[in-house]
Amino acid sequence: MLVLGCALVGVPSALAVSRPPVTWSTAGSGSNFTPALHRTIDRIVIHATDGGSLIGNVSWLAGDRSEASAHYVVSRDGQIVQLVPLHDIAWHSGNRAMNEHSIGIEHVGATDDPAGFTTAEYRASARLVAWLARRYRIPVDRRHIIGHAEVPDPFHPGALGGSAHHTDPGRYWRWGYYLKLVRRFAFPKTLKVTSTTIEPGETLAGIVPWRVRTTGGKAARVEFLVDGRAVWSDARRPFAFGGGRGLNTTSLSNGTHVLTVRAVGRGDRAAQRLVVGVANHTFALTTAGVRPWQKAKGVLQVRARALGAKTTGVGLYVDGRVVSRDRTAPYTLRWDTRRVHDGLHRVSLVATSTDRRVAKRRVPVVVSNHVRKPAPKPKPRSAPPQITSANVTDGQTVAGTVDWRAHTIGPVARVEFAVDGVVVARQTREPWATTWDASTATPGPHRLEVDAYTRDGRKAALVATVTVAPPTP
Ligand SMILES: [Zn+2]
Repeated sequence: MLVLGCALVGVPSALAVSRPPVTWSTAGSGSNFTPALHRTIDRIVIHATDGGSLIGNVSWLAGDRSEASAHYVVSRDGQIVQLVPLHDIAWHSGNRAMNEHSIGIEHVGATDDPAGFTTAEYRASARLVAWLARRYRIPVDRRHIIGHAEVPDPFHPGALGGSAHHTDPGRYWRWGYYLKLVRRFAFPKTLKVTSTTIEPGETLAGIVPWRVRTTGGKAARVEFLVDGRAVWSDARRPFAFGGGRGLNTTSLSNGTHVLTVRAVGRGDRAAQRLVVGVANHTFALTTAGVRPWQKAKGVLQVRARALGAKTTGVGLYVDGRVVSRDRTAPYTLRWDTRRVHDGLHRVSLVATSTDRRVAKRRVPVVVSNHVRKPAPKPKPRSAPPQITSANVTDGQTVAGTVDWRAHTIGPVARVEFAVDGVVVARQTREPWATTWDASTATPGPHRLEVDAYTRDGRKAALVATVTVAPPTP
């Protein structure tokens, strides 16, 4: 009868190779194996059951009538049943000396069947042998892991297959494949992971490439953690954060952060922890050429400067629509305000950084292109000149040579002296003075006039009617 014991499922690691799941058969009575307390084990002998099922073989091998036994039987679907404790001697090889220092493993299958043995059977057996090889320090080679057919006949030197000349496991047993599996399970490659682009202790800013290399075992995926939170997973080599776009550190606060890369293999995993600093400058925008609530007309030209990060460009938006863009510094943006109606418009200047940050400045602007210009104020005219007489006054009687003078106040450019409407003298600089020979005029009243002119043609006049006295005899 078969009693299923508890099965231990192990996780292979670099340090220890765990035993595969094994169930115990307690059916044996002890009369088909030799109890031993201490023995040296340095051989593993591979057998084929040549027929039967797992249960059939276990019952048979565990029974007294078989006069044979093995430590283990491996089924077609990879189950392992143990029949004899490892420290005891199982009767499996037809060679007492060989039995004393070996472990016998039966595999359900036929020696001469071309169908051979199943993958599950090979793998389960290889895991078992890997564990045994590590436990007893048995070299994984064909001198130490042998077929029943290679066991010497103790009674007939040169003959093989033990005393009964067995030929199992036969030519369909795939030794190469089997030993490769045993080696892989016995000495699993240690999965190691290294971040190749970020150094521990490094100070990061902007977008940082974060690529990871794994060595040793096969990594099914690499997980990227920031401060303990998984933020990316890559299942394809070369493993990289963000599909190769890098880690945008501007989404992290400035200060210390813990980056972790974790490679997950088949039952194996490895991790690297990186303590790094993040130090990003604030991304900011300054502008010149536009002020909040500014009155604008015609073409408005605005200059912009972006600070703190590499910039991809600056755009000028009016009422939410882009009207000007400049991709290279120094950034100059133009807006023809005549394209919008007069009044308040929402102008914003927007800079974007290569690390995908946005710096914005909002400026309300009042457009006034069509406001009527007030009429230009007339130039204040200079005060009109004033003219005062002279030594010729109204009602005066004159004779002979008359001394005729005038005084002016204000900007006078020219003064004319006229007698009876005829200009007799013209002066362009002071003193305004002339002489008039009254004796050339007929005796009687005459009209004497002084006219002062400004440069722009304004005039002041002073008129005096004088009487020319008749000549004295
Ligand atoms: Zn055998």
